[in-house]
Amino acid sequence: MEMFPQEESIVFAEIILPLALPKVYTYSIPEELQETIQIGMRVEVQFGKNKLYAGLVKKIHTNNPGYQPKPLLSVLDKVPIVHEHHLKLWEWIAKYYGCTLGEVMHAALPAGLKLASETRVLLSQAFDEDFSVLTDKEYLIAEALTIQEELSIEEIRKILNQATVYPLINSLLFKRVIILKEELKLKYKPRTLAYIRFAEPYRSDPETLKSAFELVGRAKKQMDALLGFIQLSKKQPTIKKKELMEAVDVSSAQLKGLEKKGIFEIYKKEVSRISGYGKDVISNFELSAQQLKALLEIKQKLEEKNVVLLHGVTGSGKTQVYIDLMQEAIDEGKQVLYLLPEIGLTTQIIFRLQKVFGNKIAVYHSRLNNNERVELWHKTLEGMPIILGARSALFLPFNRLDLVIVDEEHDPSFKQQDPAPRYNARDTSIYLANQFGAKVLLGTATPSMESYINAKSGKYGLVEMMSRFGGINLPEIVIADAAEETRKKTMKSHFTSMLIEELKAALGRGEQAILFQNRRGYAPTVNCDTCGWTAACINCDVSLTLHKFAGNLRCHYCGYQTEAPKACNACGKTTIKVKGFGTEKIEDELKIFLPDAKIARMDWDSVRAKNSHQKIIGDFEDKLIDILVGTQMVTKGLDFDNVGLVGVLSADQLFYFPDFRANERAFQLLTQVSGRAGRRKTQGKVVIQAFNTKHPVLKEVITNDFPSFYEREEKERRNFLYPPFYRLIKITLKHKKRNFVEVGASIFANLLRKDLGSRVLGPAQPGINRVRTYYLMDIVVKLERKADILEKAKNVIREAGVEVKGRKGLTQIRINVDVDPY
Ligand code: ADP
Ligand code: ZN
Ligand code: ZN
Repeated sequence: MEMFPQEESIVFAEIILPLALPKVYTYSIPEELQETIQIGMRVEVQFGKNKLYAGLVKKIHTNNPGYQPKPLLSVLDKVPIVHEHHLKLWEWIAKYYGCTLGEVMHAALPAGLKLASETRVLLSQAFDEDFSVLTDKEYLIAEALTIQEELSIEEIRKILNQATVYPLINSLLFKRVIILKEELKLKYKPRTLAYIRFAEPYRSDPETLKSAFELVGRAKKQMDALLGFIQLSKKQPTIKKKELMEAVDVSSAQLKGLEKKGIFEIYKKEVSRISGYGKDVISNFELSAQQLKALLEIKQKLEEKNVVLLHGVTGSGKTQVYIDLMQEAIDEGKQVLYLLPEIGLTTQIIFRLQKVFGNKIAVYHSRLNNNERVELWHKTLEGMPIILGARSALFLPFNRLDLVIVDEEHDPSFKQQDPAPRYNARDTSIYLANQFGAKVLLGTATPSMESYINAKSGKYGLVEMMSRFGGINLPEIVIADAAEETRKKTMKSHFTSMLIEELKAALGRGEQAILFQNRRGYAPTVNCDTCGWTAACINCDVSLTLHKFAGNLRCHYCGYQTEAPKACNACGKTTIKVKGFGTEKIEDELKIFLPDAKIARMDWDSVRAKNSHQKIIGDFEDKLIDILVGTQMVTKGLDFDNVGLVGVLSADQLFYFPDFRANERAFQLLTQVSGRAGRRKTQGKVVIQAFNTKHPVLKEVITNDFPSFYEREEKERRNFLYPPFYRLIKITLKHKKRNFVEVGASIFANLLRKDLGSRVLGPAQPGINRVRTYYLMDIVVKLERKADILEKAKNVIREAGVEVKGRKGLTQIRINVDVDPY
């Protein structure tokens, strides 16, 4: 709390604006605002000629900047909405990931807390009210403005009953009838619902109700409503308008009639958008011996270390261990943050946690709308005990954070790709926890190399749960040799006979199956057998994927779509063939080979509609689906009790990513998807199809041999100077013209080499060298893990960026810096 009662000197504020600006801006604080303003509050400021923004107060001081700053215009909050710890976190993110504070602010605050500059229209002082020069429509607006001081664009649209109003506004401006006003508009509107109660005197004196009945008289519907209301009010303290309308089948107009007669009052009440959990809370399960042991070890190790890695095989019961730890934290009145990858945030996990914690848990994910996000922001400020959320939930304004759980800590989606800040939520949450003196538990069946190496070296504590809950064996994994079956001609399209037989057997036993193919759509390539033409994206350097059900070709990088061709675009022949296969094709063909099976698909295309993700999961749980075909979505965190078989269509695909993490990813994906089999009753089975059956990772997955995988991988990373032994910074340069990006990248790399020498690799064209009409060039910097060299490298990169952008013709070049790229 800062106050400046009698100081003579002028008081200034440093303001963060939600823009990619390199620094914070100084404004003076008008005297009347000096008592209310605090660090972490939003203020209205003018920036540029006539733009207004809501900025965030970072600092308040009396050091004269040596020029006359603009005054800030108003204070928007009554209490700070961002606390000290988070401001520090913002600064750390900006510094570590090489972006601006404004970019962090932009990512951290929900849209509803960022104010938009909205144009409003006023009557001009210069207008002499000579309406004769106006057209009919202009007249309507001018007249409206003489009654109502100002109008929004939206209101003008309504008055004119037309969508395009800018030409008319332009003309009014030209005729000097109106002026424009830039005004900040608060986006957040609480949600209200209409309720009904008796008007006075009926509300306080039931004796008077007799006269209400007389007033209603023979209006039948009104009588129904009155009686219905009395009925309902015996059962519940408040009655929603909608409830009454449904209970007695009366219309809104009929209720209005009762309001007019002075019998009812219709009033608005603010209601929560974060749907509360209405059902009973059930008590915890009893922990198994393994869970109990793990719990004790975690607590013990967290006394010495800030971070513990819980390595528990799939189905070992990690969630129950998390639950016990969370319970302890909230019993002490503390807050818990539970982070999950976005697509792991399914009803399954939400329900499991709600069953235990009821209304003490709130969920923050991408499907919330703006208002709901703002509401959750305030709930967190008020001390909501548990927040379950994806990446960005770590920006919520906790004040008593005690524990962070990062579930599926190995998941690449914890890293934000675009736009900046390109932060890793797992790593960032560790910094966040440190701010609060809170502890972090990383949990997974397939630890990331980073976390495991930290655990091995003693930086993190390590706790293991190596068997499944209930003593069930981990699934039996077998390899189906696709090369051999191709030779023997026993393949059925993309299915080995082994996989088909196992599918039939599983369904025969009344079990369900999951099939994993890491590609959506029908086929990733469409080309012409006659002339070799390939359907390619017009904006990107990639082939278009055929989506047979939608009847179109789509680019998976920019979203470009075009109708599926019936003949070749180049030679006109109908010799069009598809290559490769995605989930649609698997679903399609499976229907031929297994005509009686009920098959469904889960990938981005099939879950796009709101709630369809949950519906597919629900239908599978209810056994309305026999076989679920899907992309990575089916590999993450799902817990079904009747899956006897998991099939992987093409393991080879996973090994050939041009990335040093390819093996790690493949190990994780294969182990995770296998982990969906046989979780509850009997041991499950997994069939992995591959052409290259000799790949070392396959053997390690089959034998569940994480130690061997880890040792081999660790050696390679060490030998080839890869993370986590070295730190990478990836710089991507983009330009609409190829030679510009090439020239820019080569200048950039040379500038870096001056200071960083052989640590600089490239520039090189990435595998996909044009995306969304921009040509790309990559430069990679490999650094020893020392803080000073990292600092230096970031400075060199920043300066090189300024230098390159300053070159003639290169001002339009875009430079993305990605620290610890994924
Ligand atoms: P993980 O997250 O380690 O893969 P889960 O936490 O999903 O494993 O647990 C696997 C299954 O075992 C779940 O269906 C869960 O309900 C059940 N389970 C775990 N712990 C217990 C327990 N203590 N009592 C009863 N059921 C449990
Ligand atoms: Zn052709
Ligand atoms: Zn594209």
